[in-house]
Amino acid sequence: MANHREPEANGNKNLQANLVDHARLREALKNNEVWPAFQPLVDMHNGAIVGFEVLARWTDPELGIIGPNEFIPLAEATGLIGLLTREVISQACSAAESWPGVFMLSINISPIQFRDPGLLEDIRDTIHSTGFPISRVQIEITEGALLEDDEMVRATIQSFKALGIGLALDDFGTGFASLTQLHAFPFDKLKIDMSFVRTMEGDSCSRKIVTSVIGLGQSLGMAVVAEGVETEQQATMLRRLGCDVGQGWLFGKPLKAADTQRLLSVREHRPLVLRSRNTSPFQ
Ligand code: C2E
Ligand code: MG
Ligand code: MG
Ligand code: MG
Repeated sequence: MANHREPEANGNKNLQANLVDHARLREALKNNEVWPAFQPLVDMHNGAIVGFEVLARWTDPELGIIGPNEFIPLAEATGLIGLLTREVISQACSAAESWPGVFMLSINISPIQFRDPGLLEDIRDTIHSTGFPISRVQIEITEGALLEDDEMVRATIQSFKALGIGLALDDFGTGFASLTQLHAFPFDKLKIDMSFVRTMEGDSCSRKIVTSVIGLGQSLGMAVVAEGVETEQQATMLRRLGCDVGQGWLFGKPLKAADTQRLLSVREHRPLVLRSRNTSPFQ
């Protein structure tokens, strides 16, 4: 009997914990404790910033800055992911609207959001309300979103394209996207997961995977972005393999909006320095 009751007790406990978490996250969203950080996407041939990935952060008054791996699953589980996404897009696009230069903003969308029939309108309206050009927004989805390979996901993705929003396949190589899906979905970009970039120098298998992904992207007409580029050696190898755009600590960590604006303003007033062996324009 005692055993019999346990699942119910746990269930109630989980439900309570969930309600508390839901209330905390909702309050945090209301108080602007959740905010976007911006990480540069860089043309590895000339060092130009071509865009930023928008990465959510939560500053809790007691715990300090919490990373998205902690709270995105919570937002998904508590049904707050739609609100969180709108909040992040709204803050990111409003800030970036006045920054100098032409660059893309790349926004992460959770796979489960593709079950929400209002997703497209929500995102469109949120971007419109900021004045940031929708043609300079791109969404990043992981292969998980394609697992539910139904008509609704397909239609939503097509509609994003029709609005002029670009489409990137994130963490490519870690999920189970089929070649058929790669072909069927109108991706503009493939982002090579950083696990391959990190190991490609020492591990010939992961180097072959990186080489193949770059070739696949080129032959399907998709730009290829390398994630997690941390060293000059990695950047050199990627450039040699034909990868044009990189993202990672070598080029810049995620920054707050004010620091990102400062970075762009400094660059605007300083001509691009072409990369040479001993100088880095990314300091
Ligand atoms: P992601 O979309 O693959 O984002 C790249 C992650 O790699 C970011 O972690 C970034 O800070 C980290 N990164 C970038 N360069 C380097 C590097 O050189 N070395 C290392 N070690 N890490 C690097 P972050 O910000 O912790 O985000 C983790 C994940 O959380 C993201 O992975 C994305 O899947 C998710 N996420 C972040 N913001 C959002 C959001 O607004 N909505 C949704 N749905 N998911 C988000
Ligand atoms: Mg991403
Ligand atoms: Mg990624
Ligand atoms: Mg990831």
